[in-house]
Amino acid sequence: MELCELTANELHRMLTGKDVRAEEICLSVFRRIDKTEDQVKAYLALHPEEALEQARAVDRKIAKGEEISPLAGIPIALKDNLCTKGHRTTCASKILYNFVPPYNATVVDKLNGQDVVIIGKTNMDEFAMGSSTENSAYQQTCNPWNPDCVPGGSSGGSAAAVAAGEAICALGSDTGGSIRQPAAFCGVVGMKPTYGTVSRYGLVAFASSLDQIGPLSKDVTDCALMLNAICGHDPMDSTSVPTELPDYREALVTDIDGFRIGIPAEYFAAGLDDHVRRVIEEAITVLEQRGARVEETTLPHTEYALPTYYIIAPAEASSNLARYDGVRYGYRVEDAKDVLDMFSRSRSRGFGAEVKRRVMLGTYALSAGYYDAYYLEALKVRTLIRRDFERAFEKYDCLISPTTPSTAFRFGEKVDDPVTMYLSDVFTLAVNLAGLPGVSIPAGFVDGMPVGLQFIGKPFSESTLLRAAYTFEQSTTHHLKRPSLTPEVE
Ligand code: GLN
Repeated sequence: MELCELTANELHRMLTGKDVRAEEICLSVFRRIDKTEDQVKAYLALHPEEALEQARAVDRKIAKGEEISPLAGIPIALKDNLCTKGHRTTCASKILYNFVPPYNATVVDKLNGQDVVIIGKTNMDEFAMGSSTENSAYQQTCNPWNPDCVPGGSSGGSAAAVAAGEAICALGSDTGGSIRQPAAFCGVVGMKPTYGTVSRYGLVAFASSLDQIGPLSKDVTDCALMLNAICGHDPMDSTSVPTELPDYREALVTDIDGFRIGIPAEYFAAGLDDHVRRVIEEAITVLEQRGARVEETTLPHTEYALPTYYIIAPAEASSNLARYDGVRYGYRVEDAKDVLDMFSRSRSRGFGAEVKRRVMLGTYALSAGYYDAYYLEALKVRTLIRRDFERAFEKYDCLISPTTPSTAFRFGEKVDDPVTMYLSDVFTLAVNLAGLPGVSIPAGFVDGMPVGLQFIGKPFSESTLLRAAYTFEQSTTHHLKRPSLTPEVE
């Protein structure tokens, strides 16, 4: 096995045992990128010189006998909606093609503080709107398990990079499923933390009441290490919670004896692929064998989650995206007649079709006369959705479901039909509306394509989710399988 195929935890042990140097790990990742990136196309930008410099700095620390952090020297990829000082941050949009932020997102500063090695910026759906990464203005990212299939989205580049060994771990963002759905499609672990756990400062805003940054990794242990590194209160984000958070490594125990797990019936209804259902049923059996008490429950307002999300998210997006006007930064048309013409043509040319669709939907839902009928109604239904979960968590430690209704679909299969595309997040959206934590972990395969199992918890119960996920993972081998990008794809 090559170094790039190992986990952060394994590599950390090798680094502290002086069995390997951070520089060698970094070179192994860049060698893999050289070999497979033409096929995968996970990255919009690579930062090899800086990455090697960061790796050598860790080696110097180790040589001096200094203690290193659990993620020191670990190559990590960042979704391209996370601001990186001095490096382009495009959100995979033409409108930000030349945007170089003057500051780092808080999570980037936190990772730098841990001496991680930042490899580059990953591809995504434009402004994180999409479920396949096909909405990138720049390139299509392929699923490492089958290059004819999408990697999911919107954090498709981050998920594909981790699955392909082109990064050891990555950060993504999740507004309605954008970490968990690509994690499921690419056979990796992806967590959306409780709203407020991770600072959103420097995350380019899509829908501010739903957005949360989270990790993608090869296993649950690395997920805990990444979450430890990025969580915590930040005075720069007024929605980040000022409470003490646990060391998530303590959750890495294989014990769920007596755990009460609920299965929401609505998440196993029509639309769920039969083969995926079977994989999830097997996963439930594994959890029962480990001592969990699993029973069916109900979240009665589930059917309203998708329409509610598609009012609230576009409404917030339309207001967040008003700043891209061709004046302050970003793309501007050259030949404008007057200022209004400049605004409108810069936006028409700078934004892609899906972003424009969302801006129109959101502007409509917020306009006088429709605000009460749509936006305020959606906020009320959002409360009902949250209450469904609160009621369920009176009885259960966590809920489980398939992460997605099917495995990764083919390029072009859904891109012309927005509603079909939106349905691929039908099991993940409600978690964002309720502000809850959710994690997707590898649960098995259907025709060689990965299936994700989702654990949903009450607010700030990440430790509980990690413990259940870890117990499942350690009872199975799905997380150990790697896509055979080489030699078939080479
Ligand atoms: N696919 C959903 C959307 O298009 C969710 C995206 C996300 O979580 N960023 O809005």
